[in-house]
Amino acid sequence: MHEELTVIKYHYVRPIGDSRYPGLKGLEVSLFEKQLQYLRKHHAVVSVGDVVGATGGKRRLPGKAALLTFDDGYSDHFNFVFPLLRKYGMAGAFYVPFGPIAENKVMGINKIHFIRGAGVPMGSLLREVFAAMRGLSAKYAFRPETYYREKYGSAGRFDDAQTMLVKRLLQFALPAAARREILDRLFAKYVGVAESAFSRELYLTFEQIACMRDDGMHIGSHGYEHAWLNTLSRDRQRKQIDRSVGWLVRLKVPRPWSFCYPHGGFNATTLSLVRERGFKLGFGVQPGIADLDRDDTMVLPRLDTNDLQSTIRRAAG
Ligand SMILES: [Zn+2]
Repeated sequence: MHEELTVIKYHYVRPIGDSRYPGLKGLEVSLFEKQLQYLRKHHAVVSVGDVVGATGGKRRLPGKAALLTFDDGYSDHFNFVFPLLRKYGMAGAFYVPFGPIAENKVMGINKIHFIRGAGVPMGSLLREVFAAMRGLSAKYAFRPETYYREKYGSAGRFDDAQTMLVKRLLQFALPAAARREILDRLFAKYVGVAESAFSRELYLTFEQIACMRDDGMHIGSHGYEHAWLNTLSRDRQRKQIDRSVGWLVRLKVPRPWSFCYPHGGFNATTLSLVRERGFKLGFGVQPGIADLDRDDTMVLPRLDTNDLQSTIRRAAG
């Protein structure tokens, strides 16, 4: 038997073209609504509870089951996604990194998105990063520029090689303190909004999360600081996971709980820790359609909203 489940992941869903950040890569609200109309016609949108119920083999999922997941705890999800899900009577699963909200910080990955969203070409951004590294070479132990270009300069699934190189340098390739210093400098220059104010505008508030929870939306863990868990020691992984669990408890999030690994990063330690904490489902970023009879339910693959958008375009011919 095959128990197929199409899990779709979303990040930004907002009006982008007319906004302050027209270069932001995300999904326009109008296209999101079209996706919901498509899903209503061709799939049965299910909840995390439905999926967990089907993992024990007692209940089956409806044919063409789809689960909608929303990463990173953006205020977009309350402002634009939540009302449309209610309109179509669909459930959603929202994966929140609690740290940036609790501490009014902005995640490094989001700083990169909005610097790019402000219209800075990737080529000039890359030159600025290397120039900043030269300026800071007395303070940090950097490797030669060619090393980084060779090791990290390959294209990703949705980003070209230059973009991926900038992202990798600022997300993990450079020493942590240097990454922060360079990124903060670029963020101040191109976005120019104080981090705490920007954080409040970008992410959900705890009140909004509670409101969505009360309306039957699933709230899941996306770690605490949105760290690459597979790069951390067992002890530091445990801290990240347990701090997120603390927020699930504080926010009275009903079980079953689910976990979405930040950046798709996990290892055997991560899996044993989240199982111990009682999480029932886990999501990475490897692309594909899940099969509950075949896949490890703690590492389910997902499709990106871009993949669904391509399917819809093809169907429209
Ligand atoms: Zn994320």
